[in-house]
Amino acid sequence: MLVLEVLIAEPRPITARQIHAELLNQGEPIGLTTVYRAVSSLVDAGLVHAFTQAGEATYRVCGTARHHHLICRSCGLVLEQTAEPRTDGFEVEAVYGVCAPCAQRALPEQQRDQPHRPQKRP
Ligand SMILES: [Zn+2]
Ligand SMILES: [Zn+2]
Repeated sequence: MLVLEVLIAEPRPITARQIHAELLNQGEPIGLTTVYRAVSSLVDAGLVHAFTQAGEATYRVCGTARHHHLICRSCGLVLEQTAEPRTDGFEVEAVYGVCAPCAQRALPEQQRDQPHRPQKRP
């Protein structure tokens, strides 16, 4: 279950090639084909969810509760969202956006870390 261990250690989805490189780093003499096979059986078992980033399949260990994904377009962070969204019958699989740290980074200096104050009505 070495492939699973690499995936658990990584909060963002990674490709089979990245898993392979990490295992070689750790001194595991494993073939890329073996990694692909291990990953697809983990996906079949429902332990790992598959994503697509820049046209490449990526993988992430997910919880077993029914959920959809919030995916940051900027850094690739994936959050699991278990709350049912209001979707008029649409089966939501993923919501794309920008995570809080990335949104902060995108702001000009003086606008950072200021609490949002609701506007008072006259
Ligand atoms: Zn998931
Ligand atoms: Zn982000």
